[in-house]
Amino acid sequence: MKKIFSLLLVFLLMIVSSKSHITLASAENSTAVKIPVMLYHVVEPNPDPNNPYQYPLAEFEKEMAYLKENGYRTLTMKQYFNILDKKAAMPEKPILLTFDDNSSDFYQYIFPILQKYGMKATEFTVSNWVNGSWNMTASQMLTIMENGVDIQNHSVTHTFLANLGREQQYAEINNATIALKELTGRTTNVFAYPYGNYNADTISVLKELGFKGAFKVGGGISTDQSDRYQIPRIMMLQNHTLDDFIRMVTIGD
Ligand SMILES: [Zn+2]
Repeated sequence: MKKIFSLLLVFLLMIVSSKSHITLASAENSTAVKIPVMLYHVVEPNPDPNNPYQYPLAEFEKEMAYLKENGYRTLTMKQYFNILDKKAAMPEKPILLTFDDNSSDFYQYIFPILQKYGMKATEFTVSNWVNGSWNMTASQMLTIMENGVDIQNHSVTHTFLANLGREQQYAEINNATIALKELTGRTTNVFAYPYGNYNADTISVLKELGFKGAFKVGGGISTDQSDRYQIPRIMMLQNHTLDDFIRMVTIGD
């Protein structure tokens, strides 16, 4: 009888310990780092209906107002990587806003809204497009940089990198670093793949040049488990509504 009792006790202890193990595991999951990274291109009052990458300004402002009203914290790129690397605590509702291609609508329309709501953002900049006919001027780039917008690297000419040899890829990335350093006085250390296009050479060049990470297109919400050189971004397209935005910010799709 005594033996049966002690066997029962051992069995009970096993259940308790396995349960506490489960509780511990789910606590780890609930504190895991999850940060939606949003990707916009052109945002303007009257987007071209034939260009899905152009986003309506009115919708964009509704989304920024939603983030503000619901306690989201927009991150700088440095804060983003510090949180991923567990060097900084994660705020309750973090989000990273990224904009690609340094187009002139950013200065005209997006920047004033970011200022209005006190938001940080990152502009992935194509170095050859600075001062281009549909792009921000060098002076506009400096103004946004001095007011909470990180300038990061989006290559020299915005080409399909996977079509290039390693040396040409190296030039596309490193010459943009040099040009952007001349422009801003700062060294870019984060990359966004033009067209979301890259291969193993691209990643090896970025590592060689000391980049902390690189963003792709699609793939849901980024986490501390995301490959630093294939970090997912959630792309906003013209037909997305505020409801889509809220869903994508929450579940990544
Ligand atoms: Zn681009």
